[in-house]
Amino acid sequence: MSTDATLSFEEAMEKYDPVLGFEVHVELNTKTKMFSSAPNVFGDEPNTNVNEVDLGLPGVLPVVNGKAIESSIKIGLALNCKIAESCTFARKQYFYPDTPKNFQTSQYEDPIAYDGYLDIELADGTVFRVEIERAHMEEDAGKLTHKGGAAGRIQGADFSLVDYNRSGVPLVEIVTKPIEGAGSRAPELAKAYVAAVREIVKNLGVSDARMERGNVRCDANVSLRPHGRERFGIRSETKNVNSLRAVEHAVRYEIQRHAAVLDAGNPVIQETRHWHEETRSTTSGRPKSDADDYRYFPEPDLVPVVASREWVEELRATLPEPPAARRKRLQADWGYSELEFRDVVNAGVLDEIEETIAAGASASVARKWWMGEIVGRAKNADVDPGQLGVEPATIVTLNRLVEDGKINNKMASAVLDGVLAGEGTPEEIVAARGLAVVSDDGPLLEAIDAALAAQPDVAEKIRGGKVQAIGAIVGGVMKATRGQADAGRVRELILEKLGVEG
Ligand code: ADP
Ligand code: MG
Repeated sequence: MSTDATLSFEEAMEKYDPVLGFEVHVELNTKTKMFSSAPNVFGDEPNTNVNEVDLGLPGVLPVVNGKAIESSIKIGLALNCKIAESCTFARKQYFYPDTPKNFQTSQYEDPIAYDGYLDIELADGTVFRVEIERAHMEEDAGKLTHKGGAAGRIQGADFSLVDYNRSGVPLVEIVTKPIEGAGSRAPELAKAYVAAVREIVKNLGVSDARMERGNVRCDANVSLRPHGRERFGIRSETKNVNSLRAVEHAVRYEIQRHAAVLDAGNPVIQETRHWHEETRSTTSGRPKSDADDYRYFPEPDLVPVVASREWVEELRATLPEPPAARRKRLQADWGYSELEFRDVVNAGVLDEIEETIAAGASASVARKWWMGEIVGRAKNADVDPGQLGVEPATIVTLNRLVEDGKINNKMASAVLDGVLAGEGTPEEIVAARGLAVVSDDGPLLEAIDAALAAQPDVAEKIRGGKVQAIGAIVGGVMKATRGQADAGRVRELILEKLGVEG
C-alpha cells in the first residue's frame, strides 16, 4: 500500500536520534457518560445509549460525572502527577460527523493532572523514566464505520454509518513530554510505556483497558535529529494505534521512514499518519500544525472542578500497589525464576497468567500454556497474546482433560486451535473430533506387535539392552493410533513384551 522509502533500522540509528511523544487515550468504565446520564456500555445496538446531551440538542446542559473525576485523579496520582486544585473545561471546536455538537468538551489550559512521570522497565531490566506533561479529561467521539471501501477506510467508501453510543464516553488523555535518549530502544520503549499505562489503569479498575475494543489508544509522535543536534526534528503523529505490538512496529516504521526522507535531503512533513497492520506501514493522514486552530474557549456550561486536598489524599490512600511492587509479589507467589518471570513480562502475559491462576490453574500450568502455546500463536497472528481471546477457563479445562487422562498434551494443543477457530468449548471439540487417549491395552498391544514387526532391527536393539531405541517403536504406535495412545503406557507395554527392564 505504502510506497514510502525506508532506511534499514540499523542505518537510521547510525545517523539519527529519535525523539518520541505519546498521547494515550483511556476510556473510563464509569456507568454513565462524562456529561450525561446515558449508559456507558460497549457493544450495544448502535445509537441506543445516546441522549440529548450527547447529541448537543438545543437547550440541554451537561453535568460532570463525579466518578469520572475521581478516576481521573486516581490516574493522575498513579502517574506521579500533581493534581490541580481547580480546573476547567474548554470547547475544542471542529466539524466532523462523529461529533454532533461540533465541539468536543475537553480541558485546555488547566488539566486535572500535570507534571508526572513513569519509570518504565525495559526487557534487559534497565529503567527508563518517561515524563508526563499532563493528563486531562475529555469525552470520546462517536464511531464511524465506512462501507464499501477497502478495509473499512473512508477512501473509496460508498457510505458511512455513525454510532453515537461512544460519544460522551469519559476519556483521560495522557500526554508525555518529548522523550529523548531512547536510541535504538525507542520501539521497545514505546511498547513498554503503553503497556505500563494500560497496566496502571487496569489495576486501578478505572478502565476495562482492552486495547482491541479501543479502551486504550495511542497516538505515537516520532521525530529524528542528527546525532549531536539539540533542536528537535519535525514530528509525525501516527493515530489510534490499538495494540502493543502495533505501537512498537509503528514507531520502528516511522523512524525508518523519517530517516529515508531526511537522507534524501527532504523535509519531514508534520502530519498525522494512519497505521496499517497488514503492511506494517503508515500512510499520510492530514497535515497538522502545532497551532491547530480549534478556537478553544472556556466551556460556559460547566463550573470549575475543585479537588480538595483532603479528597486527593483520600484517593491516594486507595491506590493499588504500584506495578513494580506487584511484580515482586507475583514472582514470589508463583515461584518463577528471575528469567521465567522476565520472559512472562516481556511476552505481555502477566495479567493473563494471573487470571488463569485465579480461575484455578497452578502457576506452572498457567505459564506452560501461555508461554508454551499461546504466545507463539499470537506472534504468528501478529496480535498481542491477550487479544487472541483465550479465556482462562479454557486453559483450566484443557489442563483438567489432560490430567484426567482423557486427552494427551498434543491433542490438547489441537483442541486449543479448535477453540480459537470458534469450534466450541474444549469438551465439545473433544467429543466432535472423537478424541480420546487409547488406554485400553488391547488395541495398543495390536499396534505394538505391528510396530515391532515393521522394525525388527530396532526390536533387536531394545532386546539387547539399547532401551533408548524405543522411541522409534513408540512413534510407530502413536502414528498407528493417530496420536491417541498414552505414550507412557505404550512404553511400558513394549518393555514388558520384550522382557526388558525400563
Ligand atoms: P497535538 O495535540 O498537536 O498532537 P500534544 O501536545 O497533545 O500535541 O502532543 C504532542 C506529543 O508529541 C507530546 O507527547 C509531545 O511531547 C510530543 N512531541 C512534541 N514535539 C515533538 C517532536 N519534535 N518529536 C517527537 N515528539 C514530539
Ligand atoms: Mg493531541
